[in-house]
Amino acid sequence: MEEERDGKNTIIENTRIKIKENIKEREKFEKEILLVKEKIKKYKEQMSKATTNKEYQGFIAEIKFEEDNIASIEEKIIEKMVESDEIMNEVRQSEAEYKRIADEYNKKIADLKSLVEYNKAKVVEIKHEKVTHRASLPPKLVQMYDHISGKRYGKAVSLVETEFCGVCNVKIRPQRFNELVASQSICICESCGRILYKKIEVQKEESEEKFD
Ligand SMILES: [Zn+2]
Repeated sequence: MEEERDGKNTIIENTRIKIKENIKEREKFEKEILLVKEKIKKYKEQMSKATTNKEYQGFIAEIKFEEDNIASIEEKIIEKMVESDEIMNEVRQSEAEYKRIADEYNKKIADLKSLVEYNKAKVVEIKHEKVTHRASLPPKLVQMYDHISGKRYGKAVSLVETEFCGVCNVKIRPQRFNELVASQSICICESCGRILYKKIEVQKEESEEKFD
């Protein structure tokens, strides 16, 4: 998400590229003016050495032509300056737009980070609980759990909510299902070999109520 957020930065980059191009073009025109001014300076020097009126008039015309040239380049610079103001507006808009997008991303990122922290703490807590539970169980049962867990990718227990194994989804035979509901003994799924677990307490309370 951080990469995605930073990727949205291109909306600003694109307008910044435009402004850079605009500055480059203006600089190019300014250089052109300097060259033309240099030309005019030379014409004026040559004009001062003119020997005939025709020659003199020729320089006057050349100088006038180049001065008009400067005026038209200056007009182009002004156009570029107007354009620059428009692009600067675009830059500001895109910066605001990016900020809005980035803020949304940052909020989501912060939420995810705190969720990760919460889950990390939860894992530590559960690991701690696991140690306590293992210590309270008969060693044989712990051994059985570890054995199944080793064979079944760390998942040794299957929570049964209907008459199907909660992990492998194979239907439990009615007899076994009744055993699971009625007895406290360990039942194993005949299909995947996991320890079947059902919230028997709730069922018991309900049946007790019926007897009352
Ligand atoms: Zn199963």
